[in-house]
Amino acid sequence: MIYDLVIIGGGPAGLSAAIYGLRARLNLILIEKMAVGGQIALSDNIENYPGFPSLSGIELMQKFEEHAKGLGLNIIYDEIKDITDAGEYKIIRGVDGTYQAKTAIITVGASPKRLNIPGEKEFTGRGVSYCATCDGPFFKDEDIAVIGGGDTAVKEANYLTKIVKSTVLIHRRKELRAEKIIQERLHNAENVILKLEHIPVSINGIKTVESVTIENVKTKERTTVPVKGVFIFIGIIPQTSFLKNLEKDENGFIKTDHYTLMTSMPGVFCAGDAHSKKLLQVATAVGEGALAATSAIEFVCGVC
Ligand SMILES: Cc1cc2nc3c(=O)[nH]c(=O)nc-3n(C[C@H](O)[C@H](O)[C@H](O)COP(=O)(O)OP(=O)(O)OC[C@H]3O[C@@H](n4cnc5c(N)ncnc54)[C@H](O)[C@@H]3O)c2cc1C
Repeated sequence: MIYDLVIIGGGPAGLSAAIYGLRARLNLILIEKMAVGGQIALSDNIENYPGFPSLSGIELMQKFEEHAKGLGLNIIYDEIKDITDAGEYKIIRGVDGTYQAKTAIITVGASPKRLNIPGEKEFTGRGVSYCATCDGPFFKDEDIAVIGGGDTAVKEANYLTKIVKSTVLIHRRKELRAEKIIQERLHNAENVILKLEHIPVSINGIKTVESVTIENVKTKERTTVPVKGVFIFIGIIPQTSFLKNLEKDENGFIKTDHYTLMTSMPGVFCAGDAHSKKLLQVATAVGEGALAATSAIEFVCGVC
């Protein structure tokens, strides 16, 4: 069977694309390698998605999934490994199956960037974490460190701070980059210490994390801070390494024509965090999912 559209990835961008594609009556499937919901399902709270001032990531994504399933969405669980252009259609190869479609939308998102310092890999799952909602409760009444200064780091630090005894937030720049409203909340918390202009150089311990060693970026002075957990939020890397045939930027994010979101392969579009752009958020992922689907609809049937 040749589908009109195959959507690869079931996060906010993929589900938004599915809603638009299904309402245009395209014959489509969505392929997800793990669980529908994407990265935002890891967040305890989302406060900047219009219309939902406070909702957990999982609750928001359940609403997306219900909406798409209500329109008849067919979800296939498989990990896509390759897309090739066969002219009239694309061949999309997964671990479990091969799919053919006139168009495809890549919404594979991203995964957390690693620090690549001693101790990080060894202690992942034994004190090092990239998900506050998943692992925060294990550190009740303990001292922890959060690494990063962007929206996700500060937002997740705010969440953790309510559970743990104390949080030291380590950021390499002079100022945090997060939205001011989230920063204000952090500054109001009594159990947070800011270590600006510091970088972590090693995570230490025997069986589990016992401390993190940090370095002042100016003086190079090193200090070891006793903590039981280290939560790392220093950015993301796109999950695009398998897409060998598509043009990408220097960080691996997929380049598109900004008007239609078409990639360098005709009929293949990209939306969400995997796409090269400035703001990686649910609101932008959803908007791009809608735009990519609209472009795919036009590619399949002209302006219909
Ligand atoms: C802890 C945390 C907190 C955040 N808080 C906020 C917030 O408060 N507000 C906000 O707007 N944004 C927030 N974000 C960012 C937001 O989650 C992302 O911008 C958004 O999820 C991007 O959506 P996406 O659909 O592009 O990608 P993703 O959400 O990454 O979804 C991609 C999906 O594709 C699947 N996939 C990947 N590769 C393949 C493959 N080869 N085959 C099949 N499936 C594949 C993945 O399993 C995943 O389900 C947060 C992110 C994190 C990590």
